[in-house]
Amino acid sequence: MSNMNEKIDISKRKFIKGAVATIMTLPLLSTIEISPEVEKKEVKKRWAMFIDVSKCYGCMACVVACAAENNVPIGVFRTWVERHVLPSGSVVFVPKQCNHCDNPPCVKPCPTGATFKTKDGLVLVDPEKCIGCGACIVSCPYGARYFNPLTGAADKCTFCSHRIYNGRLPACVEACPTRARVFGDLNDPNSEIRKLVDKIPTKVLKPQTGAEPEIYYFALPEEASK
Ligand code: SF4
Ligand code: SF4
Ligand code: SF4
Repeated sequence: MSNMNEKIDISKRKFIKGAVATIMTLPLLSTIEISPEVEKKEVKKRWAMFIDVSKCYGCMACVVACAAENNVPIGVFRTWVERHVLPSGSVVFVPKQCNHCDNPPCVKPCPTGATFKTKDGLVLVDPEKCIGCGACIVSCPYGARYFNPLTGAADKCTFCSHRIYNGRLPACVEACPTRARVFGDLNDPNSEIRKLVDKIPTKVLKPQTGAEPEIYYFALPEEASK
C-alpha cells in the first residue's frame, strides 16, 4: 500500500490466487445495486468525490470503514492511502480508489459486459457476468481493481452504491474525521461538491490517460499523480 506499483503487483498476485479460488467455485456473495432512477431516461446525477489532500493525515479510518462496509478481503483494497515524502521533506497522505471515470478504460476490454457504466456515472461490476479473465484489472491505469476470491469476480469501489441510493454517504466519507472527502452530485448546482469544484482549483490523477476521472483533488502533489 506504500506506493502504486506495489499495489498493482499485489493486485496481480491476488488475481492469480483468486483464479484458483474461482476453480473451487466459491458461491457469489455480493450483489450490486443500481438505482431504479438510472433505468429511467431522465437521469441527471453525476456522482463524484472531492478530496482535500491538505486535510488528510493518514489515519486510515476510511480504509477500515470501507473494508468493513464492503466485506473487502484481507490483502486487497477498494480504497487506500498513499504516503508521499516531498522534496521539501514534508509528508502528504493521498487517498485513492476507483475514479469512476467518465471515459473508463476498464469497460471496453470486458468481454461479457460485466463491467459497465451507469447513466448516473458509476462504474460497476456485475459479479454474475464476470468470468474472471482479468482484462479490466490490467486495463485500469490506477490499479483500482482486484480479484475478489469471495465472489469469483473482479471488484473495486462502487462509491458504496448500496448506501448512496438510499440517501446515505459512502462509508469512507462518513468515517473521515477531518472531512477530507466530500461526495455528491456534480450536476446539482447547490451541492457542496459542485460549489467546491467550481471555487477551488482541483486536479485529477493521470489526466494524460484520457480516462476523465471523477475524483477531484485539492492540494495534490505532482508526485502523487503519476
Ligand atoms: Fe475503471 Fe480504473 Fe477508472 Fe475505476 S479508476 S473507472 S476501475 S479505469
Ligand atoms: Fe469504499 Fe465505498 Fe468509499 Fe468506495 S465509496 S472507497 S467502496 S467506502
Ligand atoms: Fe485521510 Fe480522512 Fe481517510 Fe483519515 S479517514 S486517511 S483523514 S481521508
